[in-house]
Amino acid sequence: MEKRDILSMNLPELQLVIQEMGEPKFRAKQIYHSLHVRKVQSFTEMTDISSKIRDKLQTDFCVKSLFVSRKLASCLDDTVKYLYRLPDGQHVETVLMHYHHGWRLCISTQVGCKMGCQFCASTIAGYVRNLTPSEMLLQIDETERQAGVQVSGIVLMGIGEPMDNFDNVMRFLELLSDENGRRMSLRHVTISTCGVVPKIYELADRKTGITLAVSLHQSSDEGRSAIMPVNRRWNLNELMEACQYFFRMTGRRVTFEYAVMEGENDSRNDARALAELLKGQQAHVNLIPVNNVKERSFHATRKSAIAFQKKLESLGVHATVRRTLGSDIEAACGQLRHDAEQS
Ligand code: SAH
Repeated sequence: MEKRDILSMNLPELQLVIQEMGEPKFRAKQIYHSLHVRKVQSFTEMTDISSKIRDKLQTDFCVKSLFVSRKLASCLDDTVKYLYRLPDGQHVETVLMHYHHGWRLCISTQVGCKMGCQFCASTIAGYVRNLTPSEMLLQIDETERQAGVQVSGIVLMGIGEPMDNFDNVMRFLELLSDENGRRMSLRHVTISTCGVVPKIYELADRKTGITLAVSLHQSSDEGRSAIMPVNRRWNLNELMEACQYFFRMTGRRVTFEYAVMEGENDSRNDARALAELLKGQQAHVNLIPVNNVKERSFHATRKSAIAFQKKLESLGVHATVRRTLGSDIEAACGQLRHDAEQS
C-alpha cells in the first residue's frame, strides 16, 4: 500500500490519525509543528515524540522531499530558476525573483498542462499529473533552504493551470496560512488562471484574500480562441462576468496579464478592443513582452510592450510593463522542464 503523504494533511486529519493510534491529541500538534514550522525532512528529526510513535508513523506515512536537478542563476539579475525532481522522477520548475520589497517565488501546480495555450512551453510536453499540496509547499521550503532567503510573496504562475488542480491548491492555501503552522498571509499570494470560469466563482466565494491574475492576451473571442483553447469553452463575456463577480465578492482588483506578441495583439485596434473590454472592470493590466519559446513563433521586445502601453494610456487604460527578470535563463514557465524531457 502506498504511504500517505503527511505534509499534505491538515491538523484535524492528523489529529484523527493520532487518536486512532491511541495517542493523546496534542501529539498531532507537535508533529504538525515539526512539519510546518521546523520543516523537518524525516520522522527521525521529530525528536520531541517517542521513537515508538515515530516508527508507527514511518510504517504508514512518508515525508516527501524534492531534489534539485538543475539550477540556473541569471547573469542579468538575482533571478534563480530551479528544476526540481519529484519523488516519482517527474520534474517541475520554480523561479525565485528579487523584487524591491523582498523575494518572490513562482511555483508550479501541475506536471505539464492540459490547457494548450499556443505561446506556452508548459503545454508542449503534455499533461502528466497534478502536484500534491506538499509538492507545492516543498518548492517554497527547498528554495528557501537552497538560496538561504525567506520568501515573502508567492505566485502560482509556474507550470500548470492552478484552477485545474483546484482542491490541492485550496489545501495548499489552507496549509500555507494556517495559524498553527506557516502563518503566511494570503494577501501575498497570487493565483494566475487562463480562465477556468466556474473555478473563478468558487475561488471568489471562498474569500481567501489572494490576488487573482487572469491571462488575457487577446481581447476578441476570435483572436483569443485561436491561441487559447480555453476560450472556446468559456468566452470573454463569461470570463469578464466572473472577474466582476470576483471583485464584488472580495474587493480585490483582478490583474489582467497580457503577453505582447508583435503583429498579433499589439495594434491600435487591439488596444481599443482591450480598453472596451475592460470598461467597468476594476482591473489592473500587466504587459509582458512574450518570451520566445523556440518551438513557437511569437516575438516581442520590451520596446514593443512599452509602445503598446502608450497606446493603452492614450485610451485611458493604465497598464504596467512587467520587468523582465531572468530573460537569459529561460524564465518563462515550462521552458526548462521541456528541455529536460527532450535531452
Ligand atoms: N495556467 C496559468 C498559470 C501558468 S502560466 C495561466 O495561464 O495563467 C503563467 C503566465 O505566463 C500566464 O499569464 C501565461 O499566459 C504566461 N506565459 C506563458 N508562456 C509565456 C511566454 N512564452 N511569454 C510570456 N508569458 C507567457
